[in-house]
Amino acid sequence: MSILNIEKGAENKILRTRSEEVADIQSPEIQKFILNMKTTLKSTPNGVGLAAPQAGKNLRIFVASDDLGINQTVFINPEITKISENMILKGEGCLSLPEYYGKIRRADWVKAEACNENGRKFKIKATGLVAQLIQHEVDHLNGILFIDKAEKVESQKTDGK
Ligand SMILES: [Zn+2]
Repeated sequence: MSILNIEKGAENKILRTRSEEVADIQSPEIQKFILNMKTTLKSTPNGVGLAAPQAGKNLRIFVASDDLGINQTVFINPEITKISENMILKGEGCLSLPEYYGKIRRADWVKAEACNENGRKFKIKATGLVAQLIQHEVDHLNGILFIDKAEKVESQKTDGK
């Protein structure tokens, strides 16, 4: 199993590029990349979501983990189809910006559609942490980082490690 390097930094080109739709989900190359993303997310402490640009490819794919890190859901070519009017201020961080933590306004719930790794379309209505995660990861696919939208960003780098 291969673990991918996580792209880091607010100026990183891959993180700042709009990702492209996946044309052939079943291709061996895409399937292998998805597996590697899942392994990488599982082996990353505190990782609840990972978008393809964070793993070095500008493709419209992200993987979401449940709270326990057991079940993972793959979103390919995702679309947020509806969001709540109600926005909530939430704490947020990002694996690609490990030294930052911020407060950001996110929709309370979202409806989204995507394909899974078998190419099957699914719809989801998500609330709470999952809703926040979907908004964060779709931003990644559009080259947007949470620090662009956050109302307050703090550096949590304290010891230079
Ligand atoms: Zn992120």
